[in-house]
Amino acid sequence: MQVVDVEVERELEVRITYDDGVTASFPVMALRLGCPCAGCRGKRDQGRAAYEGDTISILDAELHGNWGISVRWSDGHDTGIFAWSHLRTWWDSGSGPGWQAGVDSLP
Ligand SMILES: [Zn+2]
Repeated sequence: MQVVDVEVERELEVRITYDDGVTASFPVMALRLGCPCAGCRGKRDQGRAAYEGDTISILDAELHGNWGISVRWSDGHDTGIFAWSHLRTWWDSGSGPGWQAGVDSLP
């Protein structure tokens, strides 16, 4: 699965278009809560939120070619790299308005 377009709206969402025509959009808060780094994963495993603030935004995002995207967050966190395939699995598992419920069941 290739990614053909990525749009980052720092305070709103990240939109990723895949080569099969599917565009997946992820609200920034959902991405922050779903950060795939070991630290955030550990918190979720313990039933805690990976982030507990009310607002979050993206300060900077770096594309890693065919692999994924890393994000520097407004809370200073920057260790998570979101793989395109991981995001697509997440999207497919909860696509549509209710997909955010999938935060707790990230691959
Ligand atoms: Zn993290």
